[in-house]
Amino acid sequence: MERMAVYPGSFDPITNGHLDIIKRGLRFFDRLTVLVAYNPNKSGLFSVEERMELIRQVVGDDPRIRVDSFSGLLVNYVRDNGAQVILRGLRALSDFEYEFQMALINRRLNRDIETVFLMTGYKWFYTSSNLIKEAASHGGSVRGLVPEIVLQKLQAKYSTINGKG
Ligand code: ADP
Repeated sequence: MERMAVYPGSFDPITNGHLDIIKRGLRFFDRLTVLVAYNPNKSGLFSVEERMELIRQVVGDDPRIRVDSFSGLLVNYVRDNGAQVILRGLRALSDFEYEFQMALINRRLNRDIETVFLMTGYKWFYTSSNLIKEAASHGGSVRGLVPEIVLQKLQAKYSTINGKG
């Protein structure tokens, strides 16, 4: 049986921390769906389509990786796509409580699905999409924390938003 996992997140935008989890996850799973999980009532910096496009560009054409988006109940997506595992990354202790709750509720909703956590690579301990956006919006350099293409898109977005574009 193929081992299939779903890696859900906002990915607004994808960072090197996310990429590290994707690469390491592929050592344990035959197939991985990177899922842009979104709330239709909340808009991010990048649209869902832009986020998916950035993920596609960054992961390249690896046949083991699929990029998709979804706004419903995660365990239903995982079940309907024939996967058994939800993959998540853990950074600081502050991630833990939220992730613990999510893992427990998802397990309660579907006992056949397990959440598997990978500890962050130490280089990405403080890398979050929110901090990256915050720094980039004020002109701070986030080079090295996000892939080059994401860096360019962030700069383009903020130069438009800040009226310089
Ligand atoms: P963020 O918290 O950066 O906004 P997401 O909501 O897209 O990111 O997160 C999706 C998943 O990826 C979560 O499990 C989150 O803990 C994990 N993740 C995000 N950034 C990192 C990182 N730097 N190292 C490890 N895991 C991460």
